[in-house]
Amino acid sequence: MERTLSIIKPDAVAKNCIGKIIDRFETAGLKVVGARMMHLSRAEAEGFYAVHKERPFFKDLVDFMVSGPVLVQVLEGDNAIAKNRELMGATDPKKAAPGTIRADFADSIDANAVHGSDSAENAASEIAFFFPSNWIFSR
Ligand code: UDP
Repeated sequence: MERTLSIIKPDAVAKNCIGKIIDRFETAGLKVVGARMMHLSRAEAEGFYAVHKERPFFKDLVDFMVSGPVLVQVLEGDNAIAKNRELMGATDPKKAAPGTIRADFADSIDANAVHGSDSAENAASEIAFFFPSNWIFSR
């Protein structure tokens, strides 16, 4: 059993796709064990994406992540990290496999619908960034 952090990003929330995306997770056997709808502050977005702070797209990424509300979730299940990454598809929706969340709901490499942790270490730190342990309801 593993946990991962998912964010349904401002573009997908604005397009009213929250339910369709959660359905992909649940259909694949992942359970939502924590959820927070938030409008991130600039400090929160910068802190969450601190690993990318030297990258050329950092400012645009932060601007985008604070542009509207997001749904932050903890997903739990067997191989949750890899399974979520598979469901998400490639970072660039043009390169994402058909049937993946990004292929179906994302518009561009920056407005790409979802975030998902990419390693066990990052999943643990990203979950801790948003969720005190008593906000997670394992079932
Ligand atoms: N990103 C971007 N331009 C790029 C690469 C990444 O705007 O050229 C954004 C995009 O929103 C992406 C996020 O930065 O989801 C984090 O990048 P990463 O390479 O970690 O991709 P991910 O793990 O989200 O697929």
